[in-house]
Amino acid sequence: MTRRPAFDPMADINTPTAREGSLDAPGRHPLEWRNPEFFDEQALFAELQRVFDICHGCRRCFNLCNAFPTLFDLIDESKSMELDGVAKGDYWKVVEHCYLCDMCFMTKCPYVPPHEWNVDFPHLMLRAKAVANRNGKVRARDRVLSATDTVGGLASIPVAAPIVNAANKLRPARVVLEKTLGVHRDARVPEYHGNTLRKRLDGRRSPLIEAAPTDATKGKVALFATCYGNFNEPALGEDLVSVFEHNGVPVVLCDHASCCGMPKLELGDLEAVERAKKHNIPMLAEFIDRGFDIVAPIPSCVLMFKQELPLMFPDDAQVAKVRSGIFDPFEYLMLRHRAGKLRTDFSTSLGTVAYHVACHQRVQNIGLKTKDVLELVPDTQVIAIERCSGHDGTYAVKAEFYATAMKLVRPVAKRVADAKPDHYTSDCAMAGRHIEHSLADGSKAEPPLSLLRKAYGI
Ligand code: SF4
Ligand code: SF4
Repeated sequence: MTRRPAFDPMADINTPTAREGSLDAPGRHPLEWRNPEFFDEQALFAELQRVFDICHGCRRCFNLCNAFPTLFDLIDESKSMELDGVAKGDYWKVVEHCYLCDMCFMTKCPYVPPHEWNVDFPHLMLRAKAVANRNGKVRARDRVLSATDTVGGLASIPVAAPIVNAANKLRPARVVLEKTLGVHRDARVPEYHGNTLRKRLDGRRSPLIEAAPTDATKGKVALFATCYGNFNEPALGEDLVSVFEHNGVPVVLCDHASCCGMPKLELGDLEAVERAKKHNIPMLAEFIDRGFDIVAPIPSCVLMFKQELPLMFPDDAQVAKVRSGIFDPFEYLMLRHRAGKLRTDFSTSLGTVAYHVACHQRVQNIGLKTKDVLELVPDTQVIAIERCSGHDGTYAVKAEFYATAMKLVRPVAKRVADAKPDHYTSDCAMAGRHIEHSLADGSKAEPPLSLLRKAYGI
């Protein structure tokens, strides 16, 4: 049997300094993407080999996504049944199944820094994606799907939106889309709205509410609409404005925002992430200087500003300012509640709510704030489902991953169905639609902000 120096259980027992897992708080090193070695393919493969071998010996993450089962199957089906039996070229098969949800780092891995093994699996996958991207090994389809603001802008042109939406429901058009762009013919694709959120809120004046700051919040909010919230589900932003203003928090729109950069990050296109950062960060920092907090209705976009950009640009003071000034909507509402500033005069109970906790909200380390807020509504029980829905931004629509995405969502959809809920919801609107697609019983996921608005009767 091949000896694997990176993972030696006897060393754990016999060496006083080596431990099975770290007892210290997990930390994360900045992404060293400015270091030329980051893009060195040989160095990358050495690190992939080191970390994959540790994972092979550990296997805790066998059920988080399809990246780990792919790795473990490659090893188990190899001649030696060790990592040395796996062809290096097959490492890419693992990389392509990772959608950077961060769950392995945040919830499972005992070997993250400060542990001496220094395992940061998502950052290693990101590095591999960045190398592939720089070497031109990214499909045209993926570049198109990750250009969310460009595609959204075109598909949401008022005359185009109904045509795009109608075509997306026609079988022959979907077959063509699958053959040309690799979007699976059965995948649920989002609808586009000609009347975008920006148009709906453009020129709107927030009611004359005087901001009431608390220790943790400034009491007035600038809404980062997000691409999905702007083009695909504008009601999300409208519900947010309605709920916040009902609670005495005036909301204005960050009207010149572009994509947060998360879809490009998932593609490993770090230069595109930097371009998005250069556009958004000064504008958001200015809102903060003018006394606003920032809120966005999509967890992935909040995470981008709270975690990914600070790790890519650790010395940028404006990035740090935005990190401290951006909030998940329910994190914000709970902070207001703690200060006695959230209305609890609800008019409608919600009954049983099956609530899918989105991975990109879980890894923000804010706790189950959506559940906490919804349970303030009388006669409301929230059943939290902490499991990946398998959607990611685009994973579930890609022809080669659709079947896996449907397999990943099945246990979540089953938990929803078993709960026989009055409503089901997810912090991530896309995950909610994916669960809906899996259930395929005509029911509809309702975003948590819509449920809260309903409970207030506004
Ligand atoms: S970051 Fe998420 S998708 Fe990637 S390997 Fe970890 S758990 Fe799987
Ligand atoms: S990422 Fe960490 S917890 Fe997950 S399999 Fe690898 S070593 Fe184990």
